Amino acid sequence: MEKNDIKLIDTEKLKAIMTSNGFKAYRASQIQHAIWKEGANTFEMMPIPLNLKDFLKKHFYIYTCKVINKSSSKDGTIKFLLEFLNKTYIETVFIPSSSHNTQCISSQSGCKMRCRFCATGESGFKRDLSAGEIIEQILIIQKLTGESIGNIVVMGMGEPFENYNNLMQAIRIINSKHALNIGARRITVSTVGIPEAIKRFADENIQARLSISLHASENSLRSQIVPINKKYPIEDILKACRYYNKKAKKYVSFEYILLKGINDSEKHAISLSKRLKGWKCRVNLIPYNPVNSSEFMRSDNGQIKTFSNILKKFGINTTIRKERGVDIKAACGQLKSSFLKNKNT
Ligand code: SAH
Repeated sequence: MEKNDIKLIDTEKLKAIMTSNGFKAYRASQIQHAIWKEGANTFEMMPIPLNLKDFLKKHFYIYTCKVINKSSSKDGTIKFLLEFLNKTYIETVFIPSSSHNTQCISSQSGCKMRCRFCATGESGFKRDLSAGEIIEQILIIQKLTGESIGNIVVMGMGEPFENYNNLMQAIRIINSKHALNIGARRITVSTVGIPEAIKRFADENIQARLSISLHASENSLRSQIVPINKKYPIEDILKACRYYNKKAKKYVSFEYILLKGINDSEKHAISLSKRLKGWKCRVNLIPYNPVNSSEFMRSDNGQIKTFSNILKKFGINTTIRKERGVDIKAACGQLKSSFLKNKNT
């Protein structure tokens, strides 16, 4: 029989496994407590009888990763380079805050989307992460920092909706009170905008938030900077977002990266406002973070303010994203190290 990652087994199933193998049902809670609350990463560490340890070792494993590198920013942000099975590398970012610490997690190693302003796609695509690998990022960072994580943003490497099933399995475990117990409203999935997946996400019975990387309000411009737009044009994405609005009864957030002279003029702001006017939505403006190989430049602060004010005049709830960890290349779009480039392709 193939061994399974015990972290992916839910409480009810684990209880059933216990009782059908001659162990008491409460052992399931003991095992889960050891893993999620005590940070046990071997069966030896668990306060359970020897024969149960032997049984678990025979049928299960506890998936862990290697920490390859750690860089700390002067603003407190820490970026970690982790190694998973088959020399698969990803980065994840810990962003401390006095209220709730946030962690930015990856859903894939590399990315296929090749957005022109983003560093991740440059090193190619290695593979989807398993649900176990998605949640392991949080467990290991809680252990290494000694801090608890209050917010999760799936805004690291990869396109989460290209790895839909593993992502949703991970989100349910992150949210489960028996596991990481992070409120679904505190989990945000950021996507380049895949209409079918947005509709599927709307149909899930989960309160996680949705954020769409829009970056332009006209297809001609968006297709230039986000190539997948040729396959999934803005109208189809917005239609799926309307469905999400109605079905999930939740706001959609739109991310809009500001690229100097490309998509940051007053005309662009008005066009975006007209597209979104009257919607239940928020716009999060992201000042462009420099990426070595990219030809883009960050918009001037005055222009960012003007852009934001136009949106607000149209009644659109608008915020400007505060950048964190730029000095260690841990900000949005900067996740990719030369290490990854060498090893992943
Ligand atoms: N693939 C997903 C999630 C990863 S990117 C997505 O497209 O949403 C997370 C966010 O960072 C996206 O909004 C992305 O467009 C943005 N981003 C990418 N490169 C950036 C850069 N150089 N500066 C600022 N934001 C960037």
